[in-house]
Amino acid sequence: MIVGIDLGTTNSLIAVFRDGRPQLIPNALGDFSTPSAVALDETGKLIVGLAARERAATDPGRSAQAFKRWMGSDRTVTLGDRKFRAEELSALVLQWLKADAEAFLGEPVTEAVITVPAYFNEAQRRATRTAGELAGLKVERLLNEPTAAGLAYGLQDRPDNSTFLVFDLGGGTFDVSVLEYFDGVVEVRASAGDTRLGGEDFAHAAGKLFLERCTGLSPAERERLLQDPTLWWRAAEQAKRDLSERDQTVMGLMLDGRRLELELTRADLETATAELLQRLRRPIERALQDAQLSPTALDEVVLVGGATRMPMIRQLITRLFQRLPLRTIDPDQAIAQGAAVQAGLKARDAALEEVVLTDVMPFSLGVISSQQIGQQRVGDRFSPIIERNTPVPVSRMNRYVTVSDNQSHVELDIRQGESPVGSDNLHLGKLEIELPPLPAGQAEVEVRFTYDANGLLEVDVRDVQRGRTASTLIRNTATEMSEAQIEQALARLRMLKRHPRDEEENRYLIERAKRLYEDRLGAEREAIQHWLSQFEQVLDTQDGRAIRQARVQMREALDSVDGGFRF
Ligand code: AMP
Repeated sequence: MIVGIDLGTTNSLIAVFRDGRPQLIPNALGDFSTPSAVALDETGKLIVGLAARERAATDPGRSAQAFKRWMGSDRTVTLGDRKFRAEELSALVLQWLKADAEAFLGEPVTEAVITVPAYFNEAQRRATRTAGELAGLKVERLLNEPTAAGLAYGLQDRPDNSTFLVFDLGGGTFDVSVLEYFDGVVEVRASAGDTRLGGEDFAHAAGKLFLERCTGLSPAERERLLQDPTLWWRAAEQAKRDLSERDQTVMGLMLDGRRLELELTRADLETATAELLQRLRRPIERALQDAQLSPTALDEVVLVGGATRMPMIRQLITRLFQRLPLRTIDPDQAIAQGAAVQAGLKARDAALEEVVLTDVMPFSLGVISSQQIGQQRVGDRFSPIIERNTPVPVSRMNRYVTVSDNQSHVELDIRQGESPVGSDNLHLGKLEIELPPLPAGQAEVEVRFTYDANGLLEVDVRDVQRGRTASTLIRNTATEMSEAQIEQALARLRMLKRHPRDEEENRYLIERAKRLYEDRLGAEREAIQHWLSQFEQVLDTQDGRAIRQARVQMREALDSVDGGFRF
């Protein structure tokens, strides 16, 4: 059986083409979405999905998330005392999905169509194939995510020359692609985006409104909340989602056993995010320009990604394109559904061809710098010089000034990646230049990055005062796993012990209770502790019926504390 898989940065989904239509497959918890999160528990056993995401809050040193960002690099993540490459972590997620599909379909699943971002380069694509192989799946095809969304919406059934614009606003990234269909071939004609713009920014804006307006906060508490967004992001996320359904909501959060509340309207959120909305326009304009199409020439605009549920997004699209966008498919599910459509076509030997746009810069390239925020200087910031998705060849320049008096030199630390934290990005090289002694902020360097179609990056730095220059050449070395490494990884992954599938919900409830225990104080904390002990006692009895009952009670009890939202 061939399945379609959306292997996402935050969530992954698996679907199959059956009875003439794509069907999503639920996981062991009954959800269609499985968080792309992996953790090892205290006994070294593997946890994947929602339980791993919960665990990441209480045990970050043994958990990994968002590893899709490292595909195609040799960066490893350490869980406990083991190191994993992104391919291996992705393989664990794929294995989990495969097991869900096998349980659901009652037959082995051996082949898959897996989706990848349109801007993934060769190394990232090969890494995705390797992940499939490590999970025991033959990767029949890698499909571009926007193309998958287009297939879910029936682009392949349209007349020749039909064009779709796919607007994908996820949790942390924004992608726009223009697709064209002609004679059985889908072409990604242009793609643009913003790797630092997503649904999370809108939740963040709701949180900031809370800090500004909530009257029950002391200055010290406000400062604490300002410093530690983990204290309020769930409440902000919930408020944002509520405002997609209603005109107003109450954003509430617990702080030291006290409940704080603020009434928020949809209009409040829209005003606070006007600038974010504005930033969505540029990539749209760029994609249309690159595809040489006017907004009205497009046949359809398709919305995917959970954040397109916000009414303001639909209004923006309607205004910009003078028409209603297509959004009949759940925006979280469109890509997986499209992958299943491709799997269905494949099974019937009628697969669609795809022309991939590859002449874009797949990663952001930049240097580590520090940033002045008020009186404070924050180090280890990533300062991108060439942003991801820029068409190549490209040459861009930034200027930097010294941070200390009489600074004798600058050492550029050249990095590739999308994290705002400089050292989280892949190190590519170093380049040093000497500077004349001057007060801080007065000695200036110009840094120019030139990237060509062969993946060669040339970095030039010039001391503006004296005109001296230094330069270096960096070859984009794709870091693929060798056959031997794949064999070793297969053996290592096989050794990892996992909990039985039917115990997955128990695991999730335990991890969630632990996370809530850390979050809360006082009476709530005691109650959570009590429920957890009770639940673990019942689990020890190994009495199936009693466990099922206890599970329902535990879920209800935890829902009463955090409102039952799963993010
Ligand atoms: P994705 O990466 O496509 O799963 O998108 C996840 C993003 O969608 C997150 O930022 C969520 O907060 C956002 N999202 C999900 N549901 C809603 C909703 N009802 N209203 C607003 N944003 C949502």
